[in-house]
Amino acid sequence: MNILVAGGAGYIGSHTVVELLSRGEQVVIVDNLSNSREHVIDRIERITGKRPGFVKADVRDTGKMNEVFAQYKFDAVIHLAGLKVVGESVEKPIVYYRNNLESTWVLVDLMSKYKVPSIIFSSSATVYGETDQVPINENAEYHCTNPYGNTKMINEIFLKDVVTACPDISAICLRYFNPIGAHESGQIGEDPLDIPNNLMPYITQVAIGKLERLSIFGDDYPTHDGTGVRDYIHVVDLAKGHLAALDYAEQNPDLGFLAVNLGTGKGYSVLDLVHTFSEVCGKSIPYQITARRPGDVATSYADPSKAKELFGWEAEFDLKRMCEDSWRWQKCCDKFI
Ligand code: NAD
Ligand code: UDP
Repeated sequence: MNILVAGGAGYIGSHTVVELLSRGEQVVIVDNLSNSREHVIDRIERITGKRPGFVKADVRDTGKMNEVFAQYKFDAVIHLAGLKVVGESVEKPIVYYRNNLESTWVLVDLMSKYKVPSIIFSSSATVYGETDQVPINENAEYHCTNPYGNTKMINEIFLKDVVTACPDISAICLRYFNPIGAHESGQIGEDPLDIPNNLMPYITQVAIGKLERLSIFGDDYPTHDGTGVRDYIHVVDLAKGHLAALDYAEQNPDLGFLAVNLGTGKGYSVLDLVHTFSEVCGKSIPYQITARRPGDVATSYADPSKAKELFGWEAEFDLKRMCEDSWRWQKCCDKFI
């Protein structure tokens, strides 16, 4: 297959490209490098022995994207090109709506023009927002609590409307839970350009000495130790979920619209993660308990049965392995440049 991976230089995209190339697929990455670095392309080549096509462009640049679609005859689009920081989305909703919505409009418009049959879209468990019902299955209603989540929800609704009007296009929205970990080579991983917002990169930067201590946002949640519980999933498992979804789309051209959770189905608390990481790296992780972070829910983990039933996909790596790979990446990330 010939696949366009929009946002393919980023954290999840780069791991997905590695899996695609390793399986013998042709890949063209379009990325404006707003949250990634060009050396990722070299690292992907080093891991796989194959170099993906790379176009440095904004996905919203219709003229440039038209050239890309005209040059390559794509069989599918994987759309990961999005801004993803919840707090920033509250401060800059216009930037978030423009980036995260326009990018999808441009891609789908060109898919229609160039007869590309399927799109796999990076959605998020954040569309579920606050819910008392865990594990969360795909029938749960939208309860977004911030502009970032709203952009994911609106993209889903937009794609649903598109496939209804254009039966030649199908759309699978993958609702990711909490991706962590890195490629076992230590060459690619999550590489925040700023102070991390997410838990795992924060922990790894404390462990390596870049940051002094972790703030744990609340220890009074109704969970087994009072800290928030999430469904952490290894990014390589997540990447493989995209290949499984692509295969499903290829075999089921009439599927229309699907929303599918990608998670492990297991919930771990902040302290579970801190303790497991501490064991793996052999260091204690200094932390302090601070106030709850606005918008955080107590517990969120997936019902992953739909992905298993439809795609035959399930996550394989456990929490210890996620911590090992995150730690290796943190130790290696500056060495290969
Ligand atoms: P990332 O920031 O590492 O990757 C996104 C990539 O898209 C970056 O390389 C960035 O430069 C690029 N990009 C952004 N806007 C673009 C545009 N307009 N044109 C071209 N390139 C653009 O983020 P990630 O963690 O790999 O996330 C990928 C997708 O998955 C995002 O849509 C994100 O919202 C979604 N998601 C991520 C998580 C997570 O925890 N990482 C969870 C759920 C959903
Ligand atoms: N968290 C924390 N300290 C941090 C970052 C996150 O205690 O510096 C907690 C957060 O409250 C949540 C969990 O870690 O319970 C996962 O947060 P993250 O931002 O990684 O992902 P989210 O589930 O919010 O998308």
